[in-house]
Amino acid sequence: MAFTPHEIESLRARYRTERDRRARPDGGSQYRPTTGEFGFYATDPWTERVEREAVTDRVDATVVGGGFGGLLSGARLRQAGLQDLRMIDEAGDFGGTWYWNRYPGIHCDIEATVYMPLLEEVGYVPKWRYAPGDEIRQHAVAIAKRFDLYQHALFHTKVTDLRWDDDAAEWTVTTDRGDVFRSRYVVLSSGLLTQAKLPGIPGIAEFGGHTFHTSRWDYAYTGGDQTGGLTGLADKRVAVVGTGATAIQVVPHLGRDAQHLYVFQRTPSSVDVRDNRPTDQAILDRVRPGWQRERMDNFLTVVTGGQADVDLIDDRWTATAKLQRTFLAGTPTELTEEQLELADFATMNDIRARVDEVITDPAVAEMLKPWYRYMCKRPTFSDEYLPTFNRANVTLVDTSGHGGITRMTPTGIVVGDTEYEVDCVVFATGFEVGISGILSGNLQVYGRGGKHIFEHWANGFRTLHGFTSHGFPNLFQLGPLHNARAVNFVHILDEQAIHIGALVDAAEKRGARRIEPTLEAEDAWSATIDATAADSYRFQSECTPGYYNNEGNPLPLNVSFGPGPIAFHELLRTWRTDGSLEQLLWND
Ligand code: NDP
Repeated sequence: MAFTPHEIESLRARYRTERDRRARPDGGSQYRPTTGEFGFYATDPWTERVEREAVTDRVDATVVGGGFGGLLSGARLRQAGLQDLRMIDEAGDFGGTWYWNRYPGIHCDIEATVYMPLLEEVGYVPKWRYAPGDEIRQHAVAIAKRFDLYQHALFHTKVTDLRWDDDAAEWTVTTDRGDVFRSRYVVLSSGLLTQAKLPGIPGIAEFGGHTFHTSRWDYAYTGGDQTGGLTGLADKRVAVVGTGATAIQVVPHLGRDAQHLYVFQRTPSSVDVRDNRPTDQAILDRVRPGWQRERMDNFLTVVTGGQADVDLIDDRWTATAKLQRTFLAGTPTELTEEQLELADFATMNDIRARVDEVITDPAVAEMLKPWYRYMCKRPTFSDEYLPTFNRANVTLVDTSGHGGITRMTPTGIVVGDTEYEVDCVVFATGFEVGISGILSGNLQVYGRGGKHIFEHWANGFRTLHGFTSHGFPNLFQLGPLHNARAVNFVHILDEQAIHIGALVDAAEKRGARRIEPTLEAEDAWSATIDATAADSYRFQSECTPGYYNNEGNPLPLNVSFGPGPIAFHELLRTWRTDGSLEQLLWND
């Protein structure tokens, strides 16, 4: 599609105007955590918390986090021959985000064959191209059973403190349930988007109706289940706050079942084609050893701009691959900045045109059009979301001109001067970023000589490959820092778990007591990250506010390996086999 200079300038101007009217001086601090007086929003609706005896034993390894990162780590540690593994999670069972999020309509928008890990090991083939949440959660449980990870597991338990004992060469692990036990290895995989957050709306605590967050869906109130049928809402006026990836999946069900639904939108999402269907016969026919790895590698290669002869997944993620490189690192694109911008305009024009095609009321259609670059916000996919706004019982309330909802009252929600009286408010307002794990400050880590890890990182993050730090032996972290990022983050977690498994396997085989990088190795890796990290600061600062850009205040910091995940995984594989790994093993 060709754009005239005038069209280009007017799109740029429109994007700037839309961004500026959403900017808030309070940025990231506008939200409220689901703690303290709002702690009830975070209680576990799925599993009853039961009292238990504190544990004081010794295990081979402790894995903090029972989502896919933790499960993959547990599986690889098991394959490395460790016997006593202790999985720990604040949830009541395995599954991570799929444990908590069970809202109606929940699906994963990345193809199941590449998203759901260890399919071959568990012997499972997903039923749908984009899997429903419950199928994914059950798969998490199946992984735990397959690798015998329930054995010493502690649920509804939070690790508060890790202390390295240099004489014994093991960690002392302390939890909020009074546990104090010993562990030779510790793996931290506590997730990036874990703590539900609420909007900073004046009067939020005064609302007298029913209310909950999407990650703690209240089926006792709404009736139905993850497939819908919310019969309890037939006589209810329901508000949903937020229009991100979660709301896109929830709204069709609420629209179908509520007496009246008000959707409070601050920024519209881009809503692209979904086209979900049962897993293709062609995929089923190709299920043989290596089938999943082939698809995963192909997807990662295509979306990060690597060389692939064929696009096996062939969906809207792979179709927009080049636009994702503005956000995610990858091999350098052959396109110039300007060509990328034009491709972005074309894709967003298609997404806006789809709104016009589907929505019958032109005024509503205008409100639903997103005006920003494709990767400014998490892209979403649905064939049911937009048509919901053609229903007579659904009202879209656009709040952008008012910086979001004005306030809440005992009976409803106010935008500008208009109050919308409702019986129930569902917050689809997302999660705090990076609130779990070491960087959250909620987990105290003391390494050799009692040194706190923040002291070691006083002048910046220091690791080798993102996994290990000097002075903190046998401690491994998962996550994107100093490591890789990708839209299918489970693939990154998979490679991370493989790497940790290989390190532990090597240490066990050689009888090494410690796995630990030298200060020099950390320095060298930090220099590599500094030299290669992709600079997305300018792109992010031109984006409409959201959690991707710290609510309009992007951090001048990019800490993943610039050449992208394919190159990074290759680097790790070489490092594991060229003798470098041995330099981390210590027998003293
Ligand atoms: P998001 O953070 O993406 O969305 C929060 C929503 O709440 C936004 O629309 C935001 O508006 C709105 N909001 C916040 N404050 C206010 C306010 N004061 N007034 C009105 N609206 C407000 O959360 P989600 O739960 O939707 O998604 C979080 C992430 O979870 C996704 O980005 C994705 O990574 C993951 N996810 C993945 C899925 C998958 O299929 N793989 C499915 C669902 C979620 P604004 O945009 O203006 O800030």
